[in-house]
Amino acid sequence: MKSALAIEHLQELVRIPTVSRENAETTEWPEFTRFAQALRKLYPLCHSRLERETVLEHSLVFRWRGRSSTEPSVLLAHYDVVAASAEGWKRPPFAAELSGKGEDQLIWGRGTLDNKGSLVAILEAVESQLEEGLVPSQDIYLCFGHDEETHGTGASAIVDLLQSRGVKPVLVLDEGGAIVDDVFDQVDAPMAVVGVAEKGTATLRLTVDQSGGHASTPPRMPASVRLAQAIVRLNSRPFAAHLTSTGADLLRTLGEHAGGVTGYLLRNVSWTSPVLLPILVRKSDELAAMLRTTQAVTMLDGGHAVNAMPERVSATINVRIAVNSTLDATVAHVTRAIKDKRVRITVESPGEPSPVSPTTGLAWELLRSTIEKSFPGTIVTPYVQNGATDSRHFTRISKGVYRFTPFAMARNVRDTLHARNERMLISSYLNGIEFYRALISSL
Ligand SMILES: [Zn+2]
Repeated sequence: MKSALAIEHLQELVRIPTVSRENAETTEWPEFTRFAQALRKLYPLCHSRLERETVLEHSLVFRWRGRSSTEPSVLLAHYDVVAASAEGWKRPPFAAELSGKGEDQLIWGRGTLDNKGSLVAILEAVESQLEEGLVPSQDIYLCFGHDEETHGTGASAIVDLLQSRGVKPVLVLDEGGAIVDDVFDQVDAPMAVVGVAEKGTATLRLTVDQSGGHASTPPRMPASVRLAQAIVRLNSRPFAAHLTSTGADLLRTLGEHAGGVTGYLLRNVSWTSPVLLPILVRKSDELAAMLRTTQAVTMLDGGHAVNAMPERVSATINVRIAVNSTLDATVAHVTRAIKDKRVRITVESPGEPSPVSPTTGLAWELLRSTIEKSFPGTIVTPYVQNGATDSRHFTRISKGVYRFTPFAMARNVRDTLHARNERMLISSYLNGIEFYRALISSL
């Protein structure tokens, strides 16, 4: 059974703990080497027939020569994973255990969804097609980053290399949206959400400095309270929702499949948006995040003794910037919302939103039709992704950068991304392999 082997391969690769650490010195690089060696053993044809290079030691680039090199494509994935301790997991995170039967069978483990599942499915597809003697009509690059989770430099170094050789991909497909059936309750059918852009992401720090003193004689406005006040003000002034072209595409697609008044409002979003957007934002956090810049207070810091006034307190705000906005506009909003000059705002790790890939033209149509054929009954829609991926670097060399993981992910499964009990349906994985095969055949 071919599928049994494909499952074993995924298990073997999930068991290698390629954990990305913020501090690269604490990363266990031998595991990354072991992973690359395991690929060599499991996918011999990919290694003998494709040209293979390493970039920054651990990122991998395979070139599958097609009959022509004029319109190459890139299949992108990463094999580093976020850390996981066994605590709170129903199955150990690096054991790749299987549970359940038939359509409900699951594989458990860190990296199954993010993103070894895709990487392994790509290699399964390519290996099987090499075996069948397929020669793609255009060059296909398989690019596997090693430090996506820590926003490292692997993917940008790959892009540097491709750019230096004049490679201009017509299509780049990376992880991203998936097949979901519980995000949009306006529509009954499953939806394939394809990321055509990603929001910008930045860390803002709010800091209040004050001379300290004994807690027995507190000032009227301690630094801690000033900061708390700033946070409450900010939280009560969320960013306004705006209709972007992608947002309009998404809502119109929903409208085409929704009935009644909702369907009508969605289909005519270009003029119903003033009424519609506030409703959608209230309805679901996921929808709200698709329609506006978000801000989240993620860390609080301050104080050094139970009986001393803090001299410095700070809050960390993680912002995700909508594609029609900028970091400057975001900082301006935060400054206005807080309305307190004694709260200092600094920007750390700034990242602007990505360009928006087109939802017309050859690359998009190819992707859309392959999804529709591989997952019958699924509605394809563009959306803007909230998280940053390696694909953002590829916008330097390609206009057709899309983010789609070809697996069905229900909410209970999506919630395990970067969390405990990460797992994937085996049927999803096997369908994903078929999706990559279909895509490769039509590239
Ligand atoms: Zn990922």
